[in-house]
Amino acid sequence: MTDYNAPRSTGNVRKKANRQKTAAQKVLSANQGHKARKRFGQNFLHDSNIINKIVRAINPKQGQNLVEIGPGMGAITEPVLEAAGALNVVEIDRDLIPRLRTQFFNFPNFKVYEGDALQYDFTQLIDKDAENPAPLRIIGNLPYNISTPLIFHLLSYTEEKLVQDMHFMLQKEVVDRLAAGAGTSDYGRLGIMAQYWCRVEPLFIVGPGAFNPPPKVDSAIVRLVPHDTLPFPTKNITILQNVVRQAFSMRRKTLRNTLKSMITAENIDSLGIDSSLRPERLTLAEYVKIADFVNDNPLEPSPDRGSRATEET
Ligand code: SAM
Repeated sequence: MTDYNAPRSTGNVRKKANRQKTAAQKVLSANQGHKARKRFGQNFLHDSNIINKIVRAINPKQGQNLVEIGPGMGAITEPVLEAAGALNVVEIDRDLIPRLRTQFFNFPNFKVYEGDALQYDFTQLIDKDAENPAPLRIIGNLPYNISTPLIFHLLSYTEEKLVQDMHFMLQKEVVDRLAAGAGTSDYGRLGIMAQYWCRVEPLFIVGPGAFNPPPKVDSAIVRLVPHDTLPFPTKNITILQNVVRQAFSMRRKTLRNTLKSMITAENIDSLGIDSSLRPERLTLAEYVKIADFVNDNPLEPSPDRGSRATEET
């Protein structure tokens, strides 16, 4: 699945873009002598056309509570900070921290948090004393190696209504999974849980040439906007998460097999859901139906019903 409405941004065309580069971006394209670290998923954006397009999609404004994950050498940081006047960033690579502080020393409302975004408590960025605290606008060209766990981590903040929206650059394949509908091969746990909490909008594709060093795969920008009202609220989110995880633990098996430790085949059928289907055929609404039934009718553990299988997606 991929036909994002906007035309593909190849990221290979640098000619006009280079002429429009700011001095800071020109220095950035040479990576400032910083050796990109694979273990931190470092692929630095250098294409100013793409950077501008991303910033237009984010549309940062004064007074907003923006936080960037993995600012790197500031490719997105600079234009966002210029537009919003304030920005928090979370960066794991300690070699990049002094550079960031120097680069943006004249912005008093630029704050750098050194550490792992997976461990970071984003609630500390909410002004709890304010009458109407500004919700978080989370942005980032995410390190691909941790993007899926990071998205699950961030979805927990949407649950607490702390997030206005999120804009991420991800591996295109991950964006396809986030936006996938039932019945497609990309459909799975990530898309179901993201769509439970958020409207998922794939925006545009970015080719490897926009990065230094270029990654091996295409990337894409996605916008996640938490629902004002959940379209299919469940009685118990933990049970929904467990049902979905269990169902997709063996993609090629039927629901009656994978879910047998939680619900009987007869009960799945009694909900109007065919228990002989494979997990990718069920909609979010159907998963919520199963989870709510499990919540109301928990099965006693039984050795016959097998144990939890290993996760596949
Ligand atoms: N934003 C920059 C850009 O677009 O050029 C850099 C993007 S690069 C793909 C990913 C960035 O995330 C790097 O700066 C990397 O050091 C940082 N990073 C990697 N793992 C991280 C983690 N667990 N927590 C916070 N930052 C992380």
